[in-house]
Amino acid sequence: MDLHSGLPYWIIKNPLFDYYNPLKKDLETDIVIIGSGITGALMAHELCRTELECCVVDKRSIATGSSAASTALLQYEIDVPLCRMAEQIGEKNAVTAYRSCLQSISDIEAVLKETDIDADFERLPSIFYASDEKGVKLIEREYEIRKRYELPVELLNKGELHKRYKMRTYAGALLNRQSAQLDAYKAATQLFRYHIKKDHLQIFTYTKISSCEETPQGCRLKTKDDRTIRCKYVIVAAGFEAGQFLPEKVMKLTSTYALISHPIDNKDLWPEHSLIWETAEPYIYVRTSGNRIIIGGEDEDFNNPEARDELLREKTEKLEKKFHTLLPSVPFKAEMIWCGTFSTTKDGLPFIGTWPGTERIFFDLGYGGNGITFSMIGAQIISNLLQGKEDERKDVFGFGRIC
Ligand SMILES: Cc1cc2nc3c(=O)[nH]c(=O)nc-3n(C[C@H](O)[C@H](O)[C@H](O)COP(=O)(O)OP(=O)(O)OC[C@H]3O[C@@H](n4cnc5c(N)ncnc54)[C@H](O)[C@@H]3O)c2cc1C
Repeated sequence: MDLHSGLPYWIIKNPLFDYYNPLKKDLETDIVIIGSGITGALMAHELCRTELECCVVDKRSIATGSSAASTALLQYEIDVPLCRMAEQIGEKNAVTAYRSCLQSISDIEAVLKETDIDADFERLPSIFYASDEKGVKLIEREYEIRKRYELPVELLNKGELHKRYKMRTYAGALLNRQSAQLDAYKAATQLFRYHIKKDHLQIFTYTKISSCEETPQGCRLKTKDDRTIRCKYVIVAAGFEAGQFLPEKVMKLTSTYALISHPIDNKDLWPEHSLIWETAEPYIYVRTSGNRIIIGGEDEDFNNPEARDELLREKTEKLEKKFHTLLPSVPFKAEMIWCGTFSTTKDGLPFIGTWPGTERIFFDLGYGGNGITFSMIGAQIISNLLQGKEDERKDVFGFGRIC
């Protein structure tokens, strides 16, 4: 699958982790992680802290899938607002999902601190503004339910948004001060470097898994070059390409667009460099990286890479125009643009755990706008289950909700 095209900023900003190590002979190990993106990196990190032996396989170079294209905003707010999610899956589970995402941001921060990795992690506020009248009503309901469950949230009116943040909006917004951003490519590659050095973690790149089956003794994987890997457990961290390992389609693949500006004088940016997104669907979202601005959005309902790429110029113009309407005093000129495959689920939640009726093939699929926070949650749940520990979050994110 063509996961992204154009010029993703992160691969220009960071040196490529050029690690050529295809699997050349059959292998036997405890746990195989399929995928070396941010999910595989966080998963490997969690397992390296235990007594469990694992290795990673990837058909590409390390972390050059979706993680290299990610705009990497970290928010506890999920694509499906809490008030709507509560109607879909019940208030208790919806609140658990939101609280787990909130905790996940601190857990990602702790992982980077513990490994002494500088992946440009920054704590920032986040503004969720009402795009129209429907959005105003949504924000009122959302404020009420988040307040009730003591999730961090404040109300801002239109005047405050203009005065404090230079924003021209239809109405007010929700603000939370518990968001963050990072460089997901840097985080993933640095985590792998750390564990290769510290734990002799084996990573087999340019090794495509063509089949994966659960047997009474464990799991058997076949690579495209006809090598066999036998192991006790498999963890599928294959991102938007995981469909190959699932008995049924669980997610919808879509397309998304992103651009980064020329560097801008700091005095011209908005205060606090808060993350910004809106109630409209699909939504536009904005963050900074140093003194550049990143904008994303304009999602399309299809996943045909050629059709997706053809729209790149048109989407760039639309995103630039929306940004100018939102922050008219902030200069913005796109320098790099890119697009990628994306995925959503009906309830906005990821799929974490085993498929019902199986025991040894775990999935860590962080689908949706909170992909990275979900990856962290998945890594913890799967690590806990593999160690025989209970995890109260497992049913909220498990396949049981659709099977
Ligand atoms: C433009 C864009 C913006 C985004 N913005 C955000 C955001 O702001 N915040 C957020 O949280 N998330 C965001 N996301 C989503 C987020 O980037 C993803 O959820 C995350 O990167 C997924 O990481 P991953 O490791 O699961 O997948 P990937 O990074 O794609 O890694 C999966 C790996 O599995 C490997 N693989 C697949 N199949 C096989 C196989 N058969 N054999 C061997 N290897 C295989 C691939 O080669 C790949 O390297 C965005 C995504 C895009 C594209």
